[in-house]
Amino acid sequence: MVDLVIIGSVALDSVKTPFGEVRNALGGAATYSGFAASFFCKPGIVAVVGEDFPEEHLKLLVRRGIGLEGVQRQGSTFRWQGYYEYDMNEAKTVRTELGSFAGFEPNLPDAYKEAGYVLLANIDPELQLKVLKQVKKPELTVMDTMNYWIQNKREKLLDVMGHADVLLLNDSEARQLFETPSLVKAAGKALALGPRHVVIKKGEHGALMFSSKSHFSAPGYPLENIRDPTGCGDSFAGAFIGHIAKSKDASEANLRKAIIYGSAVASFNAEDFSLERMKRLSMLEIEERYREFEEIRKF
Ligand code: AMP
Repeated sequence: MVDLVIIGSVALDSVKTPFGEVRNALGGAATYSGFAASFFCKPGIVAVVGEDFPEEHLKLLVRRGIGLEGVQRQGSTFRWQGYYEYDMNEAKTVRTELGSFAGFEPNLPDAYKEAGYVLLANIDPELQLKVLKQVKKPELTVMDTMNYWIQNKREKLLDVMGHADVLLLNDSEARQLFETPSLVKAAGKALALGPRHVVIKKGEHGALMFSSKSHFSAPGYPLENIRDPTGCGDSFAGAFIGHIAKSKDASEANLRKAIIYGSAVASFNAEDFSLERMKRLSMLEIEERYREFEEIRKF
């Protein structure tokens, strides 16, 4: 049994930032979000990796208690190459190779079908929907996406958004998708599609959450040592839904706490390349940073 089903990429990333470079390192939206969620609950990933995917990466995920019954192995692994300049809020994509994700037919293992929580992490919206339809009675569905799918599968993306309870977008994607410079207008258009809450992530500047009745603004964490922001959006998403799955509480007040947990884990993730920082992370450190967040927004 898993608490949380996550569909998304499991990838080999080649990333360059002003502070270093990695080639074919462990990455992918489901990897980052699954790892982040595993601090809070039992996630199970749905994905496909190729024959070229190192076994040690799978072992790492198993050691964290992440369910991999939904991960198939065939063909070639999803690969992403990108870089960041000194403004690390925006990833520049050099290359995206979908590999075996291109013809992937996700079949949910029985152990996943009863899960109460679903994270539709970054991948083709058609796959997101196919997975969601196989989960019997989700309590809460959170959806994330990115510019690649906004450009390539816009209509399908809008369709899937109608099935999500919480939509996560970063600020530039929200402006691009809803063709407006105003984040308030973008959030309004997103809510009109069906989600009850829309969370707009603003990289190092924090996050905003909108519903039809309220809005909430979370601060950014003043991080001194940022080396690689790859996977911050995914770590945010994983910790966000992980906290909700753990507490079984999707009230507005608890969604606000989930945003702070998401921000805390994402800030740690940026401190090193690939999953290196999360591998050394403890729940104690997450709780300490959560308290710092409480401190910095008191006035
Ligand atoms: P982010 O949290 O936005 O920094 O996500 C970074 C991760 O997303 C990387 O590890 C990539 O492997 C993965 N990724 C990049 N492009 C895509 C895409 N088009 N679909 C799914 N995952 C992607």
